[in-house]
Amino acid sequence: MNIVHIEAARQIIDNATTVFWFRRDLRLHDNAGLFHALKNGKNVVPVFIFDTDILEKLEDKYDRRVDFIYQALLKLSIEIQALGGSLVILQGVPEDIFRNLNPGSVYTNNDYEPYALQRDQRVKDILEEKNSSFHSFKDHVIFEKKEVVKENGDPYLVFTPFSKKWKLMLTEFYPASYATKNYFQQFKKISPWPFPSLKEIGFLKTDFVFKDALVEKDIIKQYHSHRNFPAIKGTSRLSVHLRFGTTSIRELVQLAKSISETWLNELIWRDFYQMLLWHFPYVAQSAFKPAYDHIEWRNDEKEFGAWCEGKTGFGIVDAGMRQLNETGFMHNRVRMVTASFLTKHLLIDYRWGEAYFAKKLIDFDLAANNGGWQWAAGTGSDAAPYFRVFNPILQQEKFDKDEVYIRKWVPEYGTLQYPKPVVDHKMARERVLRAYQKALNTNSSADNQLKFL
Ligand code: FAD
Repeated sequence: MNIVHIEAARQIIDNATTVFWFRRDLRLHDNAGLFHALKNGKNVVPVFIFDTDILEKLEDKYDRRVDFIYQALLKLSIEIQALGGSLVILQGVPEDIFRNLNPGSVYTNNDYEPYALQRDQRVKDILEEKNSSFHSFKDHVIFEKKEVVKENGDPYLVFTPFSKKWKLMLTEFYPASYATKNYFQQFKKISPWPFPSLKEIGFLKTDFVFKDALVEKDIIKQYHSHRNFPAIKGTSRLSVHLRFGTTSIRELVQLAKSISETWLNELIWRDFYQMLLWHFPYVAQSAFKPAYDHIEWRNDEKEFGAWCEGKTGFGIVDAGMRQLNETGFMHNRVRMVTASFLTKHLLIDYRWGEAYFAKKLIDFDLAANNGGWQWAAGTGSDAAPYFRVFNPILQQEKFDKDEVYIRKWVPEYGTLQYPKPVVDHKMARERVLRAYQKALNTNSSADNQLKFL
């Protein structure tokens, strides 16, 4: 925590002010928590904290996500200044920062990750000891926590019934926008807060250039037929904006409802995985179905290295990994293929791959990433049965028949320079089936009970 900055913040934030704490909701329009702060509070001071508990764990200081946040904050800060306020940017451990401030109240939006839930509880306790209050709102998803549950109150573990109930519950109220602009005059009028450099935050400038979230309606209209082909621009590319809240899920759901049921389903998957992580936070460390924790992974480091570098000798796998390494993005179909290849063909612990994606993906989101990996590994709540092993060659023939995607990312594909396959498909398939069967056979059904928390 920078002492000079915290002193300056104390001059601005007193018990006659309301703090709005931005986190994964970096926008002014249609922001639920901000709406409530502006409507109910007075002298609203917007705050963003570069959380050192999170940033210090990022080993690579060339991080496109930090750069994304940085550029999004710059835009936000200009917008707030035009309204007479200023975005106060601090760096430190949020609990320490709030211990040193005395706001009348703090408003924010819910974050469902285990770390965030504990942090928010601690901040709430600190504020309440000072007779200040903490108010948190649903903004990141359409339905949260226990809003979409089975008749008996249990969470859904399978996507299709969850999505049916989700759609049944979707009245006009849920995706309606919050008219924050009606209350913008409630921002406290303060002189501009100094905007830090990326270097001061401890990071390097990357090649990432922030562009406003743009919904390309023609892509969404064709989504059902184009979404599986990585060579086509057939998906929205909005994941990073959804991750950091530079677009509103409510507005996207309104659009999806009117033009694409298939795309709406993808937005529901996002809610589904957030809901699962909230109900079952242990999935961040272990398999959703505990019996799968007994799989004897091979964890061959050399093969893992080849997978990370995109040198497995399987074109679609290598193209995906190189796209990820070079851009921080990978097409969804290829995420499924690469994840399946690592866990099934190489029999490497899905958590190794999950951690690698977490390091590289610009849209990295714990809930969606963990959900995707556990789905691919067959260990998740709604996973493909483990005996269905993706054949990477067939996937390639089906989804990149003309090798356009592969050749874009793997220029030496088909030449003598291209590596030989690290594994034989038939052998690998039989090997993984034996390993999974062994794990499941040697563990009693009692051990397979879900860890309901
Ligand atoms: P579109 O296809 O246009 O979909 C619209 C939005 O719906 C996405 O932006 C995303 O927010 C959401 N969405 C789509 N598919 C899924 C899904 N299966 N699960 C959850 N939300 C979904 N998505 C992330 O946002 N962060 C991750 O860290 C992440 N890791 C993944 C790891 C694996 C192994 C797999 C198989 C999938 C992962 N996904 C993750 C889901 C999906 O691949 C991306 O959301 C999608 O590729 C982003 O591209 P898009 O914005 O063009 O998506």
